[in-house]
Amino acid sequence: MQTSTQMNFSGGPGALPAPVLRQTRDAIEALPETGLSVLGMSHRSAWFRAVLDEAEHNLRELLDIPRHYHVLFMQGGSSLQFSMLPMNFLRGTKQRAEYIVSGYWSAKAPVEARHEGHASVIWDGYDERYTRLPQADELRLSEDAAYLHYVSNETVEGLEFAEAPGLPGVPLVCDMSSNLLAGPIDVERYALIYAHAQKNLGPSGVTVVILRDDFARRARGSLPTMLDYRTHIDTRSLYNTPPVFAIYVLMLVTRWLRGEIGGVAAMAEINRAKARAVYGALDAYPGFYRVHAERSCRSTMNIAFRLPDTVTETLFLEAAQRDGLHGLEGHRSIGGLRASLYNAVTLDAAATLTQWLTDFARRYG
Ligand SMILES: *Cc1c(COP(=O)(O)O)cnc(C)c1O
Repeated sequence: MQTSTQMNFSGGPGALPAPVLRQTRDAIEALPETGLSVLGMSHRSAWFRAVLDEAEHNLRELLDIPRHYHVLFMQGGSSLQFSMLPMNFLRGTKQRAEYIVSGYWSAKAPVEARHEGHASVIWDGYDERYTRLPQADELRLSEDAAYLHYVSNETVEGLEFAEAPGLPGVPLVCDMSSNLLAGPIDVERYALIYAHAQKNLGPSGVTVVILRDDFARRARGSLPTMLDYRTHIDTRSLYNTPPVFAIYVLMLVTRWLRGEIGGVAAMAEINRAKARAVYGALDAYPGFYRVHAERSCRSTMNIAFRLPDTVTETLFLEAAQRDGLHGLEGHRSIGGLRASLYNAVTLDAAATLTQWLTDFARRYG
């Protein structure tokens, strides 16, 4: 639990709000509504139908999702979406799908698309070690692509798009796994949005898919039942046993966001304040801390940074852990350090980290 002494800055699964953790603990013993453990509740019960309905309703309210979009709760994580997307919308077409590769996660998506058809990487930040995002005029987009795929927030490198790329008329698809619900989005810009829960929405096990109806109906031919989006639309996410527990906790998170935070615009304000504080501490010691992302592409959710050498980084992690600051190690693909400031990380926790970073730099910088 996030108390004044234990703070979770993990990249994922990430921190969850303290009140949600308390309700979850109680629900494992006995749900207030049924007297039974949430872990033993039937997915065909009226209780679970109400949980699904509330989770969907809250997401629609928080993100202003129009009626002609479906909200699905699926399994397989975001990695399965890398495959399902081209299976449904690229397989059997002569069209090309376009991919922006701006980091570790977006690089994985076109690899899966190539099993299904033509996928072009229209911009690749690999040679610049994924330290920046493309400018609009660097993207050679075509009008007749099957879709354009990008990742709105690169969780590993800490890069976040300020504006959605793309051309009107080309279906835009976005992996928002690490920043969905961090702030308002214009859902109508997108044909499909997906985000697994374990970074910003809840525990692992469930993936939210927001899908425009006419795009969904374009899916090709015969697909395995479980891998066809239309199955999950037609059964309202109850084709087979869904992850009841994960969806319940996600519902509690959306309730918290509406009730206690006051919506995603208020959340964005808090997130900006947290990021401003932590970047401020890093920027104050430029010879000591080095932020991975170029300034104009910095993420509010994930801050990847380095120290002058790996010995000091190891010292940093040990000292942080001793002081109750957890999850600050960088992703295994790039090493270094990373502070993740997801919705559930409080302003107080960010302030504690900020002070701690300042003290560490004064001591070792
Ligand atoms: C963590 C992450 C993934 C991987 O998701 P899984 O649910 O583990 O498959 C994909 N995309 C982004 C942007 C991520 O941050």
